[in-house]
Amino acid sequence: AKYVYTFAEGNKDMKDLLGGKGANLAEMTNLGLPVPPGFTITTEACRHYLDHGSMPDGLDEQIETHLVRLEKEMGRGLGRPDDPLLVSVRSGARFSMPGMMETVLNIGLNDESVLGLAERSGDERFAWDSYRRLIQMFGKTVQDIDGDLFEEAIEEAKKAKGVTDDLHLDTDDLRRLVDRFKEIVADRTGGPFPTDPREQMIRAVRAVFESWNAPRAALYRRQERIPADLGTAVNICSMVFGNLGMDSGTGVAFTRDPATGRTGVYGDYLQNAQGEDVVAGVRNTVPLTDLERIDAHSHEELMGIMNTLENHYRDLCDIEFTIERGKLWMLQTRVGKRTAAAAFRIADQLVEQGMITLDEAVQRVTGDQLAQLMFPRFDEEATSGDDVHPLGRGMNASPGAAVGKAVFDSYTAVKWSRSGERVILCRRETNPDDLEGMIAAEGILTSRGGKTSHAAVVARGMGKTCVCGAEELDIDTKNRRMTAPGGEVVEEGDVISIDGTSGLVYLGEVPVVDSPVVRYFEGEIDPASDQADDLVRSVDRMMHYVDAARRMYVRANADTPEDAARARRMGAQGIGLCRTEHMFLGDRRPLVERLILADTPEEQRESLSALLPLQREDFGGILEAMDGLPVTVRLLDPPLHEFLPDITELSVRVAVAEARGEDHENDLRVLQAVHRLHEQNPMLGLRGVRLGLVVPGLFTMQVRAIAEAAVDRIRAGGRPRPEIMIPLVGTVQELEIIKDDAQRVLREVGEEAGLELELPVGTMIELPRAALTAGQIAENAEFFSFGTNDLTQTVWGFSRDDVEASFFSAYLEKGVFGVSPFESLDVDGVGRLVRIAAEEGRAARPDIKLGVCGEHGGDPASVHFFHKVGLDYVSCSPFRVPVARLEAGRAAG
Ligand code: PEP
Ligand code: MG
Repeated sequence: AKYVYTFAEGNKDMKDLLGGKGANLAEMTNLGLPVPPGFTITTEACRHYLDHGSMPDGLDEQIETHLVRLEKEMGRGLGRPDDPLLVSVRSGARFSMPGMMETVLNIGLNDESVLGLAERSGDERFAWDSYRRLIQMFGKTVQDIDGDLFEEAIEEAKKAKGVTDDLHLDTDDLRRLVDRFKEIVADRTGGPFPTDPREQMIRAVRAVFESWNAPRAALYRRQERIPADLGTAVNICSMVFGNLGMDSGTGVAFTRDPATGRTGVYGDYLQNAQGEDVVAGVRNTVPLTDLERIDAHSHEELMGIMNTLENHYRDLCDIEFTIERGKLWMLQTRVGKRTAAAAFRIADQLVEQGMITLDEAVQRVTGDQLAQLMFPRFDEEATSGDDVHPLGRGMNASPGAAVGKAVFDSYTAVKWSRSGERVILCRRETNPDDLEGMIAAEGILTSRGGKTSHAAVVARGMGKTCVCGAEELDIDTKNRRMTAPGGEVVEEGDVISIDGTSGLVYLGEVPVVDSPVVRYFEGEIDPASDQADDLVRSVDRMMHYVDAARRMYVRANADTPEDAARARRMGAQGIGLCRTEHMFLGDRRPLVERLILADTPEEQRESLSALLPLQREDFGGILEAMDGLPVTVRLLDPPLHEFLPDITELSVRVAVAEARGEDHENDLRVLQAVHRLHEQNPMLGLRGVRLGLVVPGLFTMQVRAIAEAAVDRIRAGGRPRPEIMIPLVGTVQELEIIKDDAQRVLREVGEEAGLELELPVGTMIELPRAALTAGQIAENAEFFSFGTNDLTQTVWGFSRDDVEASFFSAYLEKGVFGVSPFESLDVDGVGRLVRIAAEEGRAARPDIKLGVCGEHGGDPASVHFFHKVGLDYVSCSPFRVPVARLEAGRAAG
């Protein structure tokens, strides 16, 4: 097999095999851009290595052949004493995993070749600096030595010299540092630092392969839902040097601002530095615009290349580049990560510029991003007042409004968030070891590093609020406190608010308000007016497009007229689930209690007739808010005991009354009923259709209320379209009985009113047996609505009320699943049942309406699945309606 490709052999579509970095290096090479020559070892080789613990047959030879070819091309030998070729060994997986895997630079240096490098470059200091970097990176990455040992040695060297910047260490200092580093290696590994250049290279390749399985990489993959078995490619690239003096440097840039999406290049540059210095945020960078002053020629060439890349990829690209003594080199490019707002703005701009079609544009934004734009933000009134003083300002690295208690290390962030606290992770800078804390935090604040620092890149990827590089804040992680320039001190546990859109940091909790995107959906901002900014306008354009493109309808789960009206404003085309349980709570409790406690049929009828007019009114309001659109009303679902008082409280009350000799007859009756109705597993107990079958008159009362409300609406000139839905059906017999009763009531009400009432009667499919016998059930159901909450609960045997708090975090940690199946549909299991039921339901009744009303109706990935299996609609909470509209449109595209 071919395991190694030169850069000239690949292209950008070979990401599976060459990884993102390798494929794009190849693409740039073939575009004629200045890429240092090199080659890529495939992900296939990595997978073999990880599976077998050894290199695949032929790989070593292929690497050697390519290395020899590279040496010839460069006219130098790897690590040759007089004029050494040096290479970098860099990871590069199919999906970008910033900083999660390993890189080793300056391979080929040893005690002899360092002299050759000094000679050739005419810069001794540079040569020794490169050598110490090699030992440091190799030691840490390949030999697993604690990186702090090297950092401490550097700190000691600086202290001994009385300087704070590593640029002030001279050749002799660095030479001594190399000796010190070698001692560390010998001390930790029991052997000398390996001096054979080819051994250095091969060991680095293996280490990069192995870094695929590093815990932080595994965690990142689970978080980002990246499959665990892809493996990484390895890029071996001839070194160019950004640390050859002040006419050299290294930088990171974006062809547009990844935070806002605004046009114009954006980036950070660091003079006299090598690769990782920028991303790690160890020294403060200058903005890319300063490069024009520093090196006008390279700046101009870079601008030209960025323009070429944007036109070629037809998207925002991010790049890494190095300038070696005035010569520009491209080290990496890819279609760059961006914030939600930037994603919408950029897609829209590219359409305007004629670079992409609207159809492509909607494929470049996601429902998750839209959901992020709908998050509340800080109230401008509250932050603009004279008495409000921000603690400080950093860079707006990833937008949003985050409030929480300040914590200063990842461990505390995780611990506190587990116990339900909201936290803001405050660090000088973050590194990949902070990942868990970043996941746990509401937001991230750093005092060092630019918009391309680790914290910024990772936070944007996670959609988490981040303010970075707030230099004026002195973040003291050792003493767990932060000091503002005004002298305010924030101790661990103090509440702060960070604004990822403005970069401002506030003491205390700043109130939040609706986002403009929500106000647009609510109809409060007209996209054609100047109240609307370009973000609202781009969202508006995309929504128009997806609404025309999608096949599925989007309904909402709503059970009050207010929610129904809001859902309608958000674009809902009906109600897919009106739960009726809340209509039995509040001041109606006594009536419901009487119903449950009734000793005689008369008593029962009386309480039902008392409930009837109330229910009629409930339904009337909702039908009015959704006039002309379907409203699926579900008959009562939860177990009866939920309407009775808490058993412990009641027992205490009865006992106290008894002891005091007070009258407690009613309480006692209720208590007995509570005992009678008590169930070990109420979710599997007397609820849904079962309740309808054993409490006479309950469901027919509800059906009558729906029908009478419809009659009232018709008389008032409306167009009510109620549908009656029966929950928790397991067998067609249950459905048949309830349906016959319902139709009898509908006929009665119709006759009383002199109207033909034809309301569809259908069922939820939320038990495995219902899904498996869908063909029979469809004979008696005019529609199915998949209740994927209960279906997930019963297919997995997971209690939906308990598992998320008990063992799901362990499951997520161990990678049993990447996301909770209650959040995103388990396609293989639950999805299979949905597919079977949809097919068999349709076969039995070709015009059956199919929808879903579990939480999954608003989850992007699940929406795509529902589109694929041919459902007619999804129903979700009002706030998710725009998300579902967008995803249904994208799925149809
Ligand atoms: C369901 O089970 O998916 C459903 C929508 O019903 P509920 O969540 O009310 O049980
Ligand atoms: Mg249910």
